[in-house]
Amino acid sequence: MTSAHAAVAMALLGMIAAPPGAAQTLSRGVATTTPCPLRIYDAALQAAVFGAAGRSPTLHRLLTHLSDFKVIVTVRWSPALDSRLEAATLPQVTVTREMLYLHIIVKPAKVTDHLVSVVAHEVQHAIEILESGETDSAVIIGMFKQAAGGLTLRVYCTPAATDAGRAVFEELLRARVLGLESR
Ligand SMILES: [Zn+2]
Repeated sequence: MTSAHAAVAMALLGMIAAPPGAAQTLSRGVATTTPCPLRIYDAALQAAVFGAAGRSPTLHRLLTHLSDFKVIVTVRWSPALDSRLEAATLPQVTVTREMLYLHIIVKPAKVTDHLVSVVAHEVQHAIEILESGETDSAVIIGMFKQAAGGLTLRVYCTPAATDAGRAVFEELLRARVLGLESR
């Protein structure tokens, strides 16, 4: 059976702006409640993601890397997501003089380690966009399209994002097995 395990194909079409020089060491407190670049609107999800950063080296690294950019990445629920998607990084980049804004939307779901790994997956996509230095949506989508072999898809994904999400989930699972979970 062609199982629906293909599922975790999260989208990311995003576009963000160029890394204007990874100056600024923003707050390094990835595990604090006011973690710089990632603005998670749901309190439970926020607590889960930042708490998990203490148990998942991969998640910690992703969040730390995000701090290298002058960016704010919002994470909010969106019931309107395509049924196949659990989350997506939007292809709209807002560029202001001081900051770039990227947006991740997540289909409302129970806050679990899996959902945390989904957010991690999307954060990797945000980083891909930031690293590209592109801010034009069409260019960014074109970049992902090219990475997909030129195929026109409604949703693009990358091996790096898939790997990131999987690694985070596995690290969190391992932490639970070892009794390290802190929630
Ligand atoms: Zn993806």
